[in-house]
Amino acid sequence: MRRLIAKSILNKTKRRDPWFLDDYTLNPYSGCSFNCLYCYIRGSKYGINMAEKLSMKSNAVELLEKQLSLRARKKQYGIIVLSSATDPYLQLEQSELLTRQLLEVILHYRFPVHIITKSNLVTRDFDLLREIDAAAILPEDLQSKLTHKAFVTFSFSTIDDRVAGIFEPGAPKPSLRLEALRQALEQGLYSGVSLMPLLPYISDTGASLELLFQTFQTIGASYVFPATLALYGNDPADNSALVMRAIGKHYPQLLQKYQRLFGADGKLPDYYRHAFANKASSLCSQYGLRDSLFY
Ligand code: SF4
Repeated sequence: MRRLIAKSILNKTKRRDPWFLDDYTLNPYSGCSFNCLYCYIRGSKYGINMAEKLSMKSNAVELLEKQLSLRARKKQYGIIVLSSATDPYLQLEQSELLTRQLLEVILHYRFPVHIITKSNLVTRDFDLLREIDAAAILPEDLQSKLTHKAFVTFSFSTIDDRVAGIFEPGAPKPSLRLEALRQALEQGLYSGVSLMPLLPYISDTGASLELLFQTFQTIGASYVFPATLALYGNDPADNSALVMRAIGKHYPQLLQKYQRLFGADGKLPDYYRHAFANKASSLCSQYGLRDSLFY
């Protein structure tokens, strides 16, 4: 594993994403060992090639200390999202404890945090996340809209361990994530699910969506963020080539449908996206699941 010296670790976003409410993003690692085939940071779109060696930002803790102390002094509180371009709980984190050290700094400076992960390793840090939830200071404009200050979102493209083994070969199994979600809720953390992206004809079918929503409702998830898949690029490392190759190999009967559906630009047609958005919204109402962090 490479270690790199970063120039900055806390990035101020231009505007908040309506789902993730990111005022800041924080990526302790560069690259990602979970290797999801549909990942948007791989290949040419953002210039990060996942085939490159994974790196850890070895000066991350000192940098964050410096950057957050300044922001706290100016009272520039905001939600810090870990992470936007990697997973904060990669296999490496088990021994390196980098994300844990960053959470300690975040707790010290009382910033709210939103964890987005595919790993059950996050359960190790529930103690710190509960402390952050109690102590953090929300930005003024969110104080009347949110009841929590620590959020834990588990990301799924499917809850079928076998299907996940094809599309997310390096990530912990969905069954482990579901158990971690259950534990987060049991411990009083505000926790839910990001379904980004669901896989056309595989995990976005009517039956699959019913099973997903029923499962999350039974566990008691607080919210669900459903979204469709987008494919990018022509490079062999781009998600377009990787997803199509996996479909051809594991779902040959779907290959033509995928090729027609995604066309030349890699985007699902409007009719498909609208139908999906309507279905997802009616399932949220049916199962009593919110589709945002707002209470
Ligand atoms: S966990 Fe996230 S960042 Fe890592 S490969 Fe998968 S989609 Fe990409």
